[in-house]
Amino acid sequence: MNLHIDTPLLASTAIGARAGQAIWLKMDALQPSGSFKLRGIGHACVTYARRGARRFISSSGGNAGIAAAYCGRRLGVPVLVVVPETASSRARELIAREGAEIRVHGASFQEANAHALSLLGEHDAFIHPFDDPLLWEGHASMIDETVRAGVRPDAVILSVGGGGLLCGAVAGLRRNGLAEVPVFAVETEGADSYAQSVAAGARIELPAITSVASSLGARRVSEAALALRATHPVHPVVLPDTDAVQAALRFMDDHRIVVEPACGVSLALAYRAGELLAGFSNVLVIVCGGVTATVPQLQAWGAATAQR
Ligand SMILES: *Cc1c(COP(=O)(O)O)cnc(C)c1O
Repeated sequence: MNLHIDTPLLASTAIGARAGQAIWLKMDALQPSGSFKLRGIGHACVTYARRGARRFISSSGGNAGIAAAYCGRRLGVPVLVVVPETASSRARELIAREGAEIRVHGASFQEANAHALSLLGEHDAFIHPFDDPLLWEGHASMIDETVRAGVRPDAVILSVGGGGLLCGAVAGLRRNGLAEVPVFAVETEGADSYAQSVAAGARIELPAITSVASSLGARRVSEAALALRATHPVHPVVLPDTDAVQAALRFMDDHRIVVEPACGVSLALAYRAGELLAGFSNVLVIVCGGVTATVPQLQAWGAATAQR
């Protein structure tokens, strides 16, 4: 059983600038929960429910919590989402709209997360936002769909928060005979825990997240995401918030879809069509989506960053 949907695969003439190069957009912004997270979290929730879970617990006040709430409603399983006081009213509203119970605890994600873990009972399943092999298995379906639609990418662009999307996409490439295909793993400055870990050769922990791309705000990436580089070509890319926000705004005009800066940063790399992408003929951009930013908020960020 799948809780996610097959999303459209579009060839973007608005973005595709280089001669002989196609830019393919995997439109996961169109998932019912508004982000790709539904693929992995859907697979995890279905699996945990089958194993007897009677409640799902999440500590994400973002797209992961929203996806978990969506899955619980679809499966008829109660969901508890523990969020910190900093969670936006919009995120709380979106979680509540899916019928999940919200508990506000602590000043930071760390405190909310610790509280969520302390509540875990025998029949509860904890839904991690990025570090769970079941999530990666579910995320991999985006590559299966792409290949089934007749496109074999020779490069992939995706965003990295904690690295769940990265692990899933690489798993999908491998199981479709695309193990050699390079992945550009994009983050914003101030949320670049993956790029800094790669540079250091070990997992580092950012002291704080200073980017507006809150969905990329894992202070530490998963061990699995960092280890991938030993067996797969993964190239970290870091771009400023300005680029992420401007790309999200431009994407609204070009493709009439609203995405968060967390997704905009991947689009920014595609819009640049720089040297990095030279020589690739089928570039797949994972349009990971995200519903926590509104259009006025994107515009305000755009105006603020343009003034700097
Ligand atoms: C979660 C999320 C990401 C990052 O995914 P990870 O699996 O944590 O690397 C990127 N974009 C959006 C919109 C997200 O919700």
